[in-house]
Amino acid sequence: MRKLMNKKSSNMIALAPNTSNKRETVCIFGTGDFGRALGHKMIQSGYPVVYGSRSTQISNLIPKGAEVMGHAEAAQKAAIIIIAIQRQHYNFLTPLAEVLRGKVLVDISNNLKLNQYPESNAEHLAQLLPGSKVVKAFNTVSAWALQSGTLDASRQVFVCGDDVEAKQMVMNIVRALGLTPLDKGSLLAAQEIENYPLQLFPMWKFPIFLSLGLTAFFFFYCVALDIIYTYIYENNNFSFFIAITIPNRVCPVMALILLALVYLPGIFAAIIQLYRGTKYRRFPDWLDKWMLCRKQLGLIALAFASLHVVFTLVTPLRAFVSWRTSKRIISQVLNNKTEPLDHTNAWLSDSYLALGILGFFLFVLLGITSLPSVSNNVNWREFRFVQSKLGYLSLILCTAHTLVYGGKWFLSPSAYKWYLPDIYILSLIIPCAVLVVKFLLIFPCVDKPLTQIRQGWERNPKYSEQSNYIINKSAV
Ligand code: NAP
Repeated sequence: MRKLMNKKSSNMIALAPNTSNKRETVCIFGTGDFGRALGHKMIQSGYPVVYGSRSTQISNLIPKGAEVMGHAEAAQKAAIIIIAIQRQHYNFLTPLAEVLRGKVLVDISNNLKLNQYPESNAEHLAQLLPGSKVVKAFNTVSAWALQSGTLDASRQVFVCGDDVEAKQMVMNIVRALGLTPLDKGSLLAAQEIENYPLQLFPMWKFPIFLSLGLTAFFFFYCVALDIIYTYIYENNNFSFFIAITIPNRVCPVMALILLALVYLPGIFAAIIQLYRGTKYRRFPDWLDKWMLCRKQLGLIALAFASLHVVFTLVTPLRAFVSWRTSKRIISQVLNNKTEPLDHTNAWLSDSYLALGILGFFLFVLLGITSLPSVSNNVNWREFRFVQSKLGYLSLILCTAHTLVYGGKWFLSPSAYKWYLPDIYILSLIIPCAVLVVKFLLIFPCVDKPLTQIRQGWERNPKYSEQSNYIINKSAV
């Protein structure tokens, strides 16, 4: 009974929160940039720090309060050892295997290239020292950010490791430093964590290249029709159109096309699911990748729309515009005749502006809700309502804005220089196609089976048998 009570009380002590502020000593191998920055931050957070170094001389750069000693001696002073050394020098740790047995080794290293080695640095360290518990952490935080305290953008620290207790000890240190640990699982995740700081906007590549390609195409298309054509056939030099007129024609076209491209993969996905009669088969790779970068496409579209707004607002300041206005006034004065107000034109221009303003307003709303700080505060249904329903409404308004802008010129021969349509006509192809197909998809006879498919119903179970067969085959 007494034994039981003793056991119970020792458990209670273990579970009770640690009220003492005393922190365990942490050892850091390596007095380089990262080792020093991390040591500095740890001392600030109340951890005694000992450095294991090839040179035991204390330089001015070592954080005040830290001790420097040989690797073996330093390792004996702590249960956690942070290896702030490049991977290519890890071999020097092998003779220390006995001292490091049972200790928690934190691998913070990064590589110079993606997938540089067949195994991650952390797994390599674990192979070198099988008696130690290796945890991967801190590699996504820079020495500069740690030292300067500007951790606003990179508070998240990915942590992974095979020993749960060791991982927990490292996560406690992460928290104590004012950072946020994110458990990524076992050491198998280390490769992904090591690749993370080497990636350059991975989700942005396709949207940026697509936008650059389309922008270049539309820009030169406009140069050909608005400048070269006018120069050849009307002998007018409008080369200054390159500065504002053409960008202000390309930007709205790009905004509209990219916004439509945000919704087009959803349409393809619905058609594929309807055709297959199941949601349990993977989409083609290109569609998966396209779906993943819809947010980026939308944000670039928003940037183009904002530029269009700014270009439009400066229109009255332009010399060409004031020259054209005064020319018209003078011709009315000379002819002694005031042009009557064209009510159709007034309606068209006001409606076109109103549609543009409303479309842009919703566009901005979509952009704001895609910010993590906002999207984290809405539930899934609210997020879908804004991104899907209001998104489609924005696409409808922006398409209508362009259609009304074209107005009565659509069929006029002057809109087809060299038999080529104006770019606003080209820009309408994808959005109109998306809206027409979406309209067909919401018909009950199409929407009902699609909803059932998305809830797990299968029209033709052959597909799931096939996928089971593939899964079983790969398992064999
Ligand atoms: P560093 O300034 O070059 O320091 C590395 C330290 O390793 C040296 O100061 C040295 O410490 C030790 N060292 C060098 N050669 C050695 C050898 N042959 N044997 C034993 N120890 C040796 O590099 P760092 O910028 O601090 O980076 C260290 C690690 O942190 C790297 O793996 C890096 O990928 C990772 N990291 C760095 C940053 C950053 O912002 N710098 C960010 C995230 C992760 P002693 O002279 O004291 O022995």
